Formats: sequence, structure tokens, C-alpha cells
Amino acid sequence: MGKKQVPIQEGLFTWPSEDPRLIGSRCRNCGKVSFPTQKSCPACCLQDVENVELAKRGTLWTWTIQGFPPKAPPYAKQETPRTFVPYGVGYVELPKGVRVETRLTENDPDKLRIGMEMELVIEKFMEDDAGDDVMIFAFKPVEGGA
Ligand SMILES: [Zn+2]
Repeated sequence: MGKKQVPIQEGLFTWPSEDPRLIGSRCRNCGKVSFPTQKSCPACCLQDVENVELAKRGTLWTWTIQGFPPKAPPYAKQETPRTFVPYGVGYVELPKGVRVETRLTENDPDKLRIGMEMELVIEKFMEDDAGDDVMIFAFKPVEGGA
């Protein structure tokens, strides 16, 4: 059997896809868009929400570098301080004011700045027990972006 690429969680992003998008929810009453999807609107509390695919690009709202392994659980990856590679985490603001908490592909503080243009990518996070690739979403700086 071939190796599969499985999303770390169903319903976070469209996968498999040539043009993957994050999946959020939009309130039919007030238009508020949330990520990840919500059963009710965080703004007006009505349960009249629908799933929508979010824009691929946004701007870096804030970020930091995760310099040590997060606590496991909930952090799924089996790592020791020796194998751990620091990574960027932050919030990317998409159109309509949606702020997405996300891993960043870049872990060099000199290459990250607030307001820079970022684009969604789906990348391998780890291998699961079956040997399949577990895929997560991340944002990477857009080359030559604003
Ligand atoms: Zn609402």
C-alpha cells in the first residue's frame, strides 16, 4: 500500500487538494467569519453558520519562535530536546478580519516581520504509526510580497 497523506484533523483544511484552503465558518446573520469552524457565531451567538473556504493569503499579525518542545500531550509529535527544531508560530490575519493561529514555515526571526504577506501551505508534520504522513497547515512568507 502506498503512503498516504492524512490531515492532522478533519475539517481544518481541504485535503487532498491542488489548491488547499482553510475551512472556516461564516455567520449567515452577521457575516462574522471564524477559524476553526464554530457551531455558533462568536459575535452574535446564533447557530446559523455555514462552512466557507478562507483566502490563501493574509498578513502576519504577530509571531514568536517556539524554542523548546511544547508539552505532550496535547502536542502530538514525539520529540526530545535533541531532535526538536525551533519553529515559528503566530497569527495570520486573513481578509474579513479572520485571525488564524498557525505554525510558520520560517523560524529565523530576521526573516519575519509584522504585516508581511503570508501564504497557506500544507506540509508534513510527522509520520503516524501506520507510516503515513500526517499533514498540517502552516503559513510561509510570500517571496517579494508586500
Ligand atoms: Zn453572527
